[in-house]
Amino acid sequence: MAHIVIMGAGIGGMPAAYELREMLPPEHRITVVNTTDYFQFVPSNPWVAVGWRDRDAVTLPIAPYLARKKIGFIPKAVTAIDATASQLTLVDGETLAYDYLVIATGPKLAFDEVPGAGPVKSGGGGFTHSICHVDHAQAFFADYEKFLQNPGPIVIGAMPGASCFGPAYEFAMVVDTDLRRRKLRHKVPMTFVTSEPYIGHLGLGGVGDSKSMLESELRGRDMKWITNAKTTRVEEGKMFVTQLDDHGNTLKEHEVGFKLSMMLPAFKGVDAVAAVPNLCNPRGMVLIDEFQRSKAYRNIYSAGVCVAIPPVEVTPVPTGTPKTGYMIESMMTAICHNILDDLAGKPAVAKGTWNAVCLADMGDTGAAFVALPQIPPRNVNWFKKGKWVHLAKVAYEKYFMRKLKKGTSEPIYEKYIMGLLGINRLNK
Ligand SMILES: Cc1cc2nc3c(=O)[nH]c(=O)nc-3n(C[C@H](O)[C@H](O)[C@H](O)COP(=O)(O)OP(=O)(O)OC[C@H]3O[C@@H](n4cnc5c(N)ncnc54)[C@H](O)[C@@H]3O)c2cc1C
Repeated sequence: MAHIVIMGAGIGGMPAAYELREMLPPEHRITVVNTTDYFQFVPSNPWVAVGWRDRDAVTLPIAPYLARKKIGFIPKAVTAIDATASQLTLVDGETLAYDYLVIATGPKLAFDEVPGAGPVKSGGGGFTHSICHVDHAQAFFADYEKFLQNPGPIVIGAMPGASCFGPAYEFAMVVDTDLRRRKLRHKVPMTFVTSEPYIGHLGLGGVGDSKSMLESELRGRDMKWITNAKTTRVEEGKMFVTQLDDHGNTLKEHEVGFKLSMMLPAFKGVDAVAAVPNLCNPRGMVLIDEFQRSKAYRNIYSAGVCVAIPPVEVTPVPTGTPKTGYMIESMMTAICHNILDDLAGKPAVAKGTWNAVCLADMGDTGAAFVALPQIPPRNVNWFKKGKWVHLAKVAYEKYFMRKLKKGTSEPIYEKYIMGLLGINRLNK
């Protein structure tokens, strides 16, 4: 009998627990360990931040759903991993032994890399908001409600080293739509400040016509932008940005004034993971082989935002490669197959497709992209805009939450529909 421990119950960890339970004989034990006792659907945080969703609609208690599938759950943070002894230490000092460990801890939000940025409760300076966590989105909404009484300039974007650009664009468009609905948009100058070398780069070197389509969208919505933006510090109501040229030389110094700001931070690995000798790269992201297995420890696998992926290309201001929901689930499916094979004494063969599929809401419309594979040149490379994307994103939220409540990882209709689009979880 083996004990498989999944560290992190997020977009990757929860489906992985269900999928492993479906695949493994019942004598094998599965335990999920997570910092909080609830799951949050991170992609809906932009809606929470403008009050289009409340917290209950995008979170659910983990324990009852895992219990129904006979999966153990411990709602505590892991503070240390002894990878040699295959044992975790939890926040209360308790220990937990494992035969296989699946690390799915998502990111540590590196607010401290830009002085003044990020929520105080998450180690930041308090002058910009975040939407990476549902608590952050709620804090934005609290300030947004006050802001609506006396509006002013807004700055939205992504910090140097960020990898998650889609949600920054999405949030800028959602805020724009919300302000227009409230007939307040004319009182709010908006600036999009991004470390990307050009609008629509998305950490992917662009996808299809993303550059011209997103530029046109920002222009159509009266938003100014600063690209190659190295944000160096934030003070109350002021963002200091050094804009670089294509060679990395200073082009212009900006002091951008704002009344409200949301900037996505760079990501690092969480402390307990980053501290394990030889497990991670210098930013604490887990180094894995093509089978999602740690390069240093044969019984550790990892998937999701916490794995190390090299940037698609070098950019004047550092940018990272995004890890999107479907890509993360494809990594998890590969892990489940490889653990099953390892238990049977067979070599690992399953490789996730890592297809980048993303739906970004724009309030009244939306933009979708598919990049297969992630690094150009690609077999599938499209970026499309339309109201159908807004509807698809709403459906994605409902569908994912329902999937977690039902306890299935990849229902047969998902497999069929994605298959029709040529999008599969595993490389054949
Ligand atoms: C605002 C935003 C919007 C996004 N929107 C989309 C989208 O629309 N579509 C899309 O495809 N992708 C989207 N993404 C990208 C990606 O899908 C999400 O970031 C996703 O949540 C990542 O999944 P994950 O499982 O890697 O990490 P997470 O979902 O963040 O889960 C990590 C879990 O690990 C737990 N954890 C962390 N440290 C520990 C510890 N020490 N011990 C125990 N547990 C721990 C955390 O509590 C958390 O529950 C978005 C990202 C952001 C930030």
